[in-house]
Amino acid sequence: GLGLFDPARRNSRGYDLGEPGMPEALVAAIGAARRGDRVAAPIVGGAARAGAGEPVRNPATGAVVGQVIEADRAAVADAVAAARAAHGNWSLAGGAFRAERLERAADLLEEHDALFLGLAIDEAGKTLVDAIAEVREAVDFLRYYAGQARADFTYPVALPGPTGERNELMLEGKGVFVCISPWNFPLAIFLGQVAAALAAGNSVLAKPAEQTPLIAHAAVELLLEAGIPGDVLHYLPGRGETVGAALTGNPDIIGVAFTGSTEVARAINRGLALRDGPIATLIAETGGANAMIVDSTALPEQVARDAVASAFQSAGQRCSALRLLCVQEDVADTMIAMVAGAMAELNVGEPALLSTDVGPIIDDEAQAKIAAYVAEARAAGRVIAQAQRTDLPAGGHFVPPVVIRLDHVTDLKREIFGPVLHVATWKGGELDALIDAINASGYGLTLGVHTRIDGVAAHIAARAQVGNVYVNRNQIGAIVGSQPFGGRGLSGTGPKAGGPHYLHRFAEEKTISTDI
Ligand code: GLU
Repeated sequence: GLGLFDPARRNSRGYDLGEPGMPEALVAAIGAARRGDRVAAPIVGGAARAGAGEPVRNPATGAVVGQVIEADRAAVADAVAAARAAHGNWSLAGGAFRAERLERAADLLEEHDALFLGLAIDEAGKTLVDAIAEVREAVDFLRYYAGQARADFTYPVALPGPTGERNELMLEGKGVFVCISPWNFPLAIFLGQVAAALAAGNSVLAKPAEQTPLIAHAAVELLLEAGIPGDVLHYLPGRGETVGAALTGNPDIIGVAFTGSTEVARAINRGLALRDGPIATLIAETGGANAMIVDSTALPEQVARDAVASAFQSAGQRCSALRLLCVQEDVADTMIAMVAGAMAELNVGEPALLSTDVGPIIDDEAQAKIAAYVAEARAAGRVIAQAQRTDLPAGGHFVPPVVIRLDHVTDLKREIFGPVLHVATWKGGELDALIDAINASGYGLTLGVHTRIDGVAAHIAARAQVGNVYVNRNQIGAIVGSQPFGGRGLSGTGPKAGGPHYLHRFAEEKTISTDI
């Protein structure tokens, strides 16, 4: 079967920070597990490659938290050759064999979670709450794809046919897959892509985001320890323009799983089309211009809570994040005042502190871009409210959450990847025009809906051209297996991560018909 509902699989539990003593215990465990001396060197054929290290910095403080060594041409060439040679046996080993190793990796990740929590905080600027969710999601991806590999990639499916003939359909790995992951989910998306490609029987060349090589390095070490063969999985850190381009331009690769900007996905797509070799698969998960539609029947307190969480958790650095709050005109004054009021209470600062709600922006380049955008809106008199900067560590990159008023929903032209929420109003009777305007952006990732009328929610969900609709709740933090995640149009190609069809895009089908 599709492995749609596997009653035996449970998502991981994570930690309840409300449990007495839990936050203190976690902070102590993270402190004990932390390593400032990790060198993220390329791993090819199970062995580390030497080279000149460059510092990796903590986005909240600027402190050096480790080193990275960029993969050179020889490392890339050797990894491609080894991965190519290893693919056949790995695919033939079958889904159950591969599942066992991925499940062992999930167990190891739970066992060593403090190390990964620490790296997510140090290297990616995650708050403790976000770091816990990150590790949980990574564990869930490993077990979910393992379960699907076991269900769909172990035995062929028998198909009907005339008497005297046996027909079977089976799934196999495609070949060498390149996985290019983003810094905003440096463990969950990194491992999600890699685990899916491996589970389906591919060998993998994994390139983490430039900003977050350390946690990915630790994850690859863990996969190798769990029994993934060294010639099947290779770790190749470096810049997109060099290592990324060398990987996606190689005629020996058969597919790319990419999460990042729409722009880079387009460039990868063009590169794949122009290179020699087989026609490659591109699985891209890109940006969004995500809206939330609020009608006059919505509960204001709930809207405030969900809009603030959706827009500002993770400092808005999620592709699912709310960018455009669309409130029905007759309730707009109250709703927007409540959202702005709740936003103003957020604590911005050092993510390692338990009191922090909003951590840093990933680097100075991103921070400067967002700050310039906010300054422009301020000069135009459109900034309605901004959180107060308090006790920000020197050397870090921060943008306090901000709410910006627009005259019309179509005034939001592009994704601003940070804690910036736009608000606009719409008139009763113009709901369809609003949905069509949101669709017209071309993005199609998440949509929030707040209404007390079931029929309105159903109508919006049916008409919206997006991948994930969230009704009367926040619109971030998709759960593996429950909320398969991913968009359409400018937001991505599908299939959905953490969903029943994801692995199939990493696979080839083979039909065997035998006269018996
Ligand atoms: N899956 C994440 C969420 O639901 C977003 C992933 C991303 O930002 O790429 O919030």
